[in-house]
Amino acid sequence: MIPVVHEPEAFREAARLSRERGRRVALVLTMGALHRGHGSLIRLARSYGEEVFVSVFVNPTQFGPSEDFAKYPRTLEADVSLAMAEGATLVFAPEAAQMYPEGEETRVTVPRLSQYLCGRGRPGHFDGVATVVTKFFALAGPVTAIFGRKDYQQLMVIRALVRDLLLPVQVVGAPIIRARDGLAESSRNAYLGASERERALAIPRALGGVHAAFGSGERRAEALRRTLENHLAQPGLAIEYAELADAETLEPIVAGTVPDRCLVAVAVRVGNTRLIDNLVLGEESAPEVS
Ligand code: AMP
Repeated sequence: MIPVVHEPEAFREAARLSRERGRRVALVLTMGALHRGHGSLIRLARSYGEEVFVSVFVNPTQFGPSEDFAKYPRTLEADVSLAMAEGATLVFAPEAAQMYPEGEETRVTVPRLSQYLCGRGRPGHFDGVATVVTKFFALAGPVTAIFGRKDYQQLMVIRALVRDLLLPVQVVGAPIIRARDGLAESSRNAYLGASERERALAIPRALGGVHAAFGSGERRAEALRRTLENHLAQPGLAIEYAELADAETLEPIVAGTVPDRCLVAVAVRVGNTRLIDNLVLGEESAPEVS
């Protein structure tokens, strides 16, 4: 069994000791309910560190008042097994009261990148993410941290905060892992019933449709966006956003020609479940959908 530490100071000490012994630390931050997507991050982390530390923490400050914080799946025992099977060497699972000590009030904000896409429908979400990630980095010290491109905007926010706060962290982005049917793996997929899951496949199909149009030479933002929206116009799907954006700045691209690196990003509600997915045109292949 790998060690499971709950105390922030024990985590800090484990990271310090590893480095003292000449062992690099790679970090994978998660909210648990681990799946193949997390597994691929842990495997990638092994190429950056002799030690791979995985955190499991459902961070209260990144959930809005009407979101699923209370019902978010909590499966620590299974998470430790999966993390270990993928090569993690330690799991850090703190309590909220330890990450947010009595009287705490400090928040980290990355305002420009946080305002777009998920930031519009989830006010305060990225402040919660940026704050907790900064805390994990403060505890971990110099590490390589792996984040999935599934949460593309989150990855950009974290790259920015590392740059701006001069943190000794190397940030690595990892590709989106999909289930066999094409849906991006997510802890929230557990909420989907069978017919909802079938409907959710419109999301990777929509990304595939835009990818195909781009592949045949379409560069007009309006046309690409229409393709995206047409695929998503399905009964039982509520689009929160379906957008093209500059893959660096995340600024929306609504007209004219798309830039070289164009992000296609989607947030959709299927029943009560909110799902996100994305693709960078010209950089990634199309999702394979059954
Ligand atoms: P979460 O537990 O959902 O907060 O995710 C923890 C980390 O795993 C984040 O860096 C996510 O981007 C990443 N992740 C989640 N799902 C996937 C996926 N399907 N493919 C790749 N990375 C993922």
